[in-house]
Amino acid sequence: MAEQPGKGGVLYIVATPIGNLEDISARAIRILSQVDIIAAEDTRVSRKLADRYHIDTPLLAYHDHNERQRAPQLVDRLVHGEDIALISDAGTPLISDAGYRLVRLAQERDIRVTAAPGPCAAITALSIAGLPTDRFVFEGFLPPKSAPRRHRLEALQHESCTLIFYESVHRVVATLRDMVSIFDADREGVIAREITKQFETVRRDTLVNLLVWLENEPRQRKGEFVLLVHGRRDAAPATVELERVLSLLLADLPMKQAVNLAADITGASRNDVYRLALRQSGG
Ligand code: SAM
Repeated sequence: MAEQPGKGGVLYIVATPIGNLEDISARAIRILSQVDIIAAEDTRVSRKLADRYHIDTPLLAYHDHNERQRAPQLVDRLVHGEDIALISDAGTPLISDAGYRLVRLAQERDIRVTAAPGPCAAITALSIAGLPTDRFVFEGFLPPKSAPRRHRLEALQHESCTLIFYESVHRVVATLRDMVSIFDADREGVIAREITKQFETVRRDTLVNLLVWLENEPRQRKGEFVLLVHGRRDAAPATVELERVLSLLLADLPMKQAVNLAADITGASRNDVYRLALRQSGG
């Protein structure tokens, strides 16, 4: 059923709903009905979707724990001309889900890999969060243990793009607590919970207010979560104030000292100030 002729079969990366079973494209349904096999994260979960759309294609388990053995087996089948669709429990495969190994291996064997695009919790959350969408960073899941999680958040504290995280119900409060202590407590964030489902909630507030709200609302601590954080607002390097301070300091001090002082005074990152200093001094 290849939509374009290619060597062997075609590997389709097919997005499926993140909650509302109606959120699947007509093309995705056709592909899932016509391929030889559907590789699915959890066949019991995908069976519900298949039943809803009268898809009787065989389902085969493909997930993080068997990807290493399954990927070469599936690629052999593709090489022999079978068409395969990869789906995950919800959303777009490979986005915090298995599939990377399969796509790489298939491409290495000259198999055509194409997508039936559709829902992704990160992008859907971003589209309804009310935070800047022009530049964003998808961080997926943070480390489950507090020390490495805090370390990761510290590395992100100067990031000026909107930050997007997936978080499990078990850690959402602890993660928000770490965010409050590492980012400014009054930085804006968004909790996007149970998107497209009955109890969908999208709440935008300061991080500290979001934490207090979540701690006081046990009903809101259920389901699936995307956490979003506004990028650091004062991270823009070439503000008028920074330029003014830096040029005054550069007039009397060596560059390294001027950069360090300008960064301390304005709160801008040393790298950004250093780049600006090079520009100002014609370097
Ligand atoms: N591949 C999926 C995608 O494209 O979004 C993500 C898979 S990842 C294993 C599952 C995580 O996605 C959940 O823990 C949650 O953070 C987020 N997620 C999935 N569905 C969601 C929904 N309906 N509402 C909020 N978050 C959701």
